[in-house]
Amino acid sequence: QAKNTGPGSILFYEAQMQAQVTTRARLQHDLREALQQESFCLHYQPQINAAGQVVGVEALVRWISKKHGFISPAEFIPLAEKTGLILPLGRWILHTACTQLAQWARQPQRQGLSMAVNVSAGQFQQSNFVEQVREVLQETGAPAHQLKLELTESAMVEDMDAVVARMQALRQLGVRFSIDDFGTGFSSLAYLKRLPLDQLKIDQGFVRDCLEDHNDASIAQTVIALGHSLGLEVIAEGVETAAHQAALQSWGCRFFQGYGISKPLPAQALEAFLTTHAAVAASATTAPLPPG
Ligand code: C2E
Ligand code: MG
Ligand code: MG
Ligand code: MG
Repeated sequence: QAKNTGPGSILFYEAQMQAQVTTRARLQHDLREALQQESFCLHYQPQINAAGQVVGVEALVRWISKKHGFISPAEFIPLAEKTGLILPLGRWILHTACTQLAQWARQPQRQGLSMAVNVSAGQFQQSNFVEQVREVLQETGAPAHQLKLELTESAMVEDMDAVVARMQALRQLGVRFSIDDFGTGFSSLAYLKRLPLDQLKIDQGFVRDCLEDHNDASIAQTVIALGHSLGLEVIAEGVETAAHQAALQSWGCRFFQGYGISKPLPAQALEAFLTTHAAVAASATTAPLPPG
């Protein structure tokens, strides 16, 4: 009889699954509440060029929950994506990042910084996404050409014509694009020639072991060469040591982001970091796009 079976039985698994569902439901509820109470904040991780100047930052969302403590975005972003909460959360992130961008753009030592913002596939696929970005730019006064949206290949699985049209509309506003975690998705490379991209981001999975693992080194080198031959900027993420940066630089990579440079920081700490690592006044990355 089922009742008498021990661990390893179907009943045990059901109980475990039930517990998981309950935890997930609770987390989901708390996530919704957190959005109402604005218990999220953004941290900013510097991105540097080969001369060591800060050219921009990536905004990374943080949730400090009274109940759960620190919860990694690697955990709650997928949940927010599954439940649709990413839509209001994503808008809040975009608005907050652009408010900060507008503020820095008014300050002489910080005015050249670009702001990279992660955009989930579901967020990008909203029919009013272009309108949303236009509104946020208007509301905050952020310079569009210094805003860089990070998309992953998962946003490219939709109808390619629709993706191209949406990106071109955003580009008309001046917004730039980076492909995040490049090389880890399932899409074909064919999309690269159709999309109005500015940057490829070498996934940290390839960067981590690139000093020891010949295959990872090959992939990193290939992404750098591919990006450059397509006229794109290439940035390496997850750069944890000077040796990593030196190797990537010797392979032609010119932009770097990682704990080896700095962890993601609250805005004030980022400003302090800038006083010791001069920011570029204006760089090729942040110059306005030519018209058309
Ligand atoms: P991502 O966009 O690829 O961001 C890079 C992640 O690597 C960040 O983790 C960053 O803190 C971490 N990182 C940076 N440098 C290093 C390093 O040198 N070594 C290691 N081991 N890690 C490093 P984080 O902040 O936990 O974010 C994880 C992921 O969650 C992000 O990956 C992104 O996919 C998602 N995410 C974070 N913030 C947002 C957001 O505002 N919106 C959306 N849609 N997704 C976000
Ligand atoms: Mg990113
Ligand atoms: Mg990434
Ligand atoms: Mg990632």
